[in-house]
Amino acid sequence: MNTQASASQTPGTNCSEAFAGPGPEALFRKRLGEGAFEIQCCDDCGKHFFYPRVTCRYCGSSSVRWIRPSGQARVYSTTVVRRRPEDGGDYNVAIVELKEGPRMMTRVEDVPAAQVRIDMSVRPRLTSSPTLAFGHRLRGKEGDSYGAMQEKPLA
Ligand SMILES: [Zn+2]
Repeated sequence: MNTQASASQTPGTNCSEAFAGPGPEALFRKRLGEGAFEIQCCDDCGKHFFYPRVTCRYCGSSSVRWIRPSGQARVYSTTVVRRRPEDGGDYNVAIVELKEGPRMMTRVEDVPAAQVRIDMSVRPRLTSSPTLAFGHRLRGKEGDSYGAMQEKPLA
């Protein structure tokens, strides 16, 4: 039986290697658990992308690597999910655009849900789950609102 790449795959790539080992989502979660927020970058076309994938979403290349984004991001869209106070109160759901280009669905958590605005500058931070959220007041110095937060900021 032929286990080599089929004719429908991109010439020059070895997809069986790309699919070996833990999947990209598992690698993303593992690194997040270690305190590192990483996205992928394609070696062939140079574009960044998220969510984690085996192949580049733009050119199909399996030559992708993990990079640590700058941490600079802005709110692309935002909404408020209403909940009773006894159920935890309102919370924000936002699409945040990283400086590198990818957009990700997340929460902006250090601002009242209804005060999150489009184009607001935000930075990633790790929550205790661990999951990824974003904060507006984060500025990265110990002693300011960034350092005072219980959850771990990410560069
Ligand atoms: Zn690519």
